[in-house]
Amino acid sequence: MTPLIDTHGRQIRYVRISITDRCNLRCRYCMPASGVEWIPHEKIMRYEEYLRILGICVNRGMEKVRITGGEPLLRKGLVEFVRSVSLLKGIRDLSLTTNGVLLPSMASELKQAGLNRLNISLDTLDREKFIHITQVNAFDRVIAGIRAAADAGFAPIKINVVAIRGVNDGEIPAFASLTRQYDAEVRFIELMPMGCASRFGSPEIIRAPEIRRIIEASLGALEEVEYGGGPARVYRLAGAKGLIGLIGALSEHDFCGKCNRIRITASGRLRPCLFSDSEVDLLGPMRRGITDAELEALIEEGVEMKGLRHGICAGRPPGMDPDSTTTMNVLGG
Ligand code: SAM
Ligand code: SF4
Repeated sequence: MTPLIDTHGRQIRYVRISITDRCNLRCRYCMPASGVEWIPHEKIMRYEEYLRILGICVNRGMEKVRITGGEPLLRKGLVEFVRSVSLLKGIRDLSLTTNGVLLPSMASELKQAGLNRLNISLDTLDREKFIHITQVNAFDRVIAGIRAAADAGFAPIKINVVAIRGVNDGEIPAFASLTRQYDAEVRFIELMPMGCASRFGSPEIIRAPEIRRIIEASLGALEEVEYGGGPARVYRLAGAKGLIGLIGALSEHDFCGKCNRIRITASGRLRPCLFSDSEVDLLGPMRRGITDAELEALIEEGVEMKGLRHGICAGRPPGMDPDSTTTMNVLGG
């Protein structure tokens, strides 16, 4: 096996695939307020096309796959797709990020199909505020979804919280203190000023060190925990069952140097970095009939484009056009 190694010596082991741009929520920082222009169905990758790409990736040492979207649970045939990915030889970790709305009826079958881990996004513990953020009255379904996931045996569940000043900053201690009671990982994510979120200014962005200070001021010292190389710095409150992750995409970009991931968008483009606008189209050439060896060469080309640090660190603005393909529902976050 020849590993996929980028020009900075990093072996690529992790691929995030966005399987749809559709969503049943309208989070204000993710979806354009003006209405969404969906990718036409025929331009969205088919499951067998993802599987063809993944087959090549695992032959080159890829071990971790995360399924995301848009809202991945909306796509028909997901459970069977999860089963097929989990059966690929070499996959050690198959995870999925969801808003949780459809989990009450799907958590158990996803677990049985071979899904290892779940991240569920929830930015508030307040029903009214949930409606304000997501523009949909679905708070109770998400809470039921989290329960269903725990009942199905997903452990530990990760809860993704995008921290936004003036919206949910007052709830940071309440989210963090959930880890005292539950074996969950609550992950606070800095709002990334790209796509639709570019209309949020820097006053709304709460950087990871400030989140840490807010937690410590009300709940006591956080102890840093050794944790496997992802973008989160992980902490524990004294005596807590669960963990607290801080994802400082803007403020703590030392993880760029260790980044081992690539992304495939819902429209079949390989993105070497979430914040870079460079992409390699895989879908067009696949549909024009390229061979596996040619597809592998395109994947290598995408990996070689991976920069050492992301554009935000380099002072280059990320995609700011709310209608561009940089919207998170296309990229997968
Ligand atoms: N719909 C699923 C969900 O919400 O979990 C999966 C896709 S969503 C794009 C993946 C993650 O990206 C979510 O946790 C979401 O909160 C996060 N996200 C979206 N836009 C973001 C932004 N501008 N800054 C930071 N995180 C963002
Ligand atoms: Fe949908 Fe997830 Fe974007 Fe919210 S963050 S609009 S749930 S894709």
